[in-house]
Amino acid sequence: MSDDATMGFKRTPCPDCHGTGELRIDSENINEDFEVEKQVVITECPRCLGLAFLPQGAS
Ligand SMILES: [Zn+2]
Repeated sequence: MSDDATMGFKRTPCPDCHGTGELRIDSENINEDFEVEKQVVITECPRCLGLAFLPQGAS
């Protein structure tokens, strides 16, 4: 009799990056014409290290 129901990884999507592995940060720059330039900076999610899901054991 075998019971291997615990096989497989249970992945929890990272709530910080919504399972994308990256964060989008809106930033505004003022250029030399004093116009506001909006840009989106995409950075690796620090919580899941870009994996898009939380490491096992994390709570
Ligand atoms: Zn994340």
